[in-house]
Amino acid sequence: MKLYSDPRLLSLGVIHGTTDRDMGNMRLAESTHTLFDRLGINEENILRFKQVHSDTLIAACSLEEVKKIQSSPLAEADGWVLKGQGFGAAILTADCVPLVLWDEKAEVVGLSHCGWRGVAANLPAKTVSEMKKLGAQGKISAWAGPHIQSCCFEVQADVAEQFPESVIKKEGKLFVDLSKAITRQLLAVGLASQDIQLPHLCTCGDKLKFFSYRRDHTKDALLTFVYRP
Ligand SMILES: [Zn+2]
Repeated sequence: MKLYSDPRLLSLGVIHGTTDRDMGNMRLAESTHTLFDRLGINEENILRFKQVHSDTLIAACSLEEVKKIQSSPLAEADGWVLKGQGFGAAILTADCVPLVLWDEKAEVVGLSHCGWRGVAANLPAKTVSEMKKLGAQGKISAWAGPHIQSCCFEVQADVAEQFPESVIKKEGKLFVDLSKAITRQLLAVGLASQDIQLPHLCTCGDKLKFFSYRRDHTKDALLTFVYRP
């Protein structure tokens, strides 16, 4: 079992990570209960939503707000921006990019579910601008959990044409490099290249470690969460 995480964000006291296959299908409540119990986190304080491949972001700044969101019907959205302590958020993925962003002291944190539709709709850049609206200070850094890499992300022309040429690989077939597309967007909104670290781990290419919708057409999913104690 391995929880993928970023040492830069851990050093700022934010508990976070992406689960692996051994931790089980995170669509099941029993899997998330086990995970959060092990981490000593009250799962009720972890925001969830219905992910719909949109570019909608929801902001939460207090536990009170979190409770209000949790008690209403599951919101449809694909990103969170959080400011405050004692709560967090989580998203499910199985190939899409779970993107985590944070400001200088990780007082404002963003978590977004970036599939190709979200990336094409500028969700990574929008997450940064929502963080700034919440008062993000200093440099913003980025990390992503395991996701499909360009080695496996073959697309048809209608998808490829929604991305800049520089992120398309042509090897007889067309492949989109989502990490590269995200990096390009984040650089454009002012992040420095050394602060963007999107590990090259392919969910589709590593059957032993990850779930992959593309590979197995499974509904099984990995969970990425952030929580500021
Ligand atoms: Zn691959």
